[in-house]
Amino acid sequence: MRLVLPAVLLVLCVAVVTGCDNPLEIDRETEIEIGREGAAELEAEHGVVEDAALQHRLDAVGKRVAAASGEPDLPWTFKILDTEKVNAVSLPGGFIYATRGMMEYVESDDQLAGVMAHEVVHADHHHAKSAIEKAMAQSLLAELVTRKSSKTIKQAAGIALELDMRQGYRGKEYEADRFGTLYAFRAGYRADGLRQLLALMHADEGDPARITWLLQTHPPLSKRIQRLDEYVPTLTGKPADGQ
Ligand SMILES: [Zn+2]
Repeated sequence: MRLVLPAVLLVLCVAVVTGCDNPLEIDRETEIEIGREGAAELEAEHGVVEDAALQHRLDAVGKRVAAASGEPDLPWTFKILDTEKVNAVSLPGGFIYATRGMMEYVESDDQLAGVMAHEVVHADHHHAKSAIEKAMAQSLLAELVTRKSSKTIKQAAGIALELDMRQGYRGKEYEADRFGTLYAFRAGYRADGLRQLLALMHADEGDPARITWLLQTHPPLSKRIQRLDEYVPTLTGKPADGQ
């Protein structure tokens, strides 16, 4: 195993990360390419809402929180997926989506900023990258054993979509809530926007058809709200429900 692994990672570099210097790591350019490929698949599957006013609102909010993130120079794009499910998606490299359902669901730009900033954190903290590297290394190892062909960017994008849409970024959701709250606050929005949105969803948990994804892939809303109740006052100096 120890002898095989470096060879596997070298193949990962050659096959997936064209021109990378470090065979252990997907480079920034490739990370963006994987995200772009995933974005094309996602848009082909759901369609994008072409509504100038809605798009303008999302762009204004999304770009403002992205500018307050740790990686303001990523090629951030914000689009609206044409589905009524209340959802938001983040792909590597800064391809962020709100669903039509989410755009209708949020009650304010502060809440929209909160959820967009949560997704921005998944991208600027590279939550998908290490998981993709691990999954690709494992699948390439399996390939070497079975002598099948090498993987591509497309397959890495498939892993990114699987992570975001069906599994969630396990262990990273509280981090995304916390830093998302920080980015939104830094960008000039209310510090409790995300907390407000989570509280709304918590009240609607009886309507699982709309927010199934969030319930399946993220930690319980009550726990996320509780953690923000502790964090928000550290930013504002006021209790979370007295902003
Ligand atoms: Zn998340």
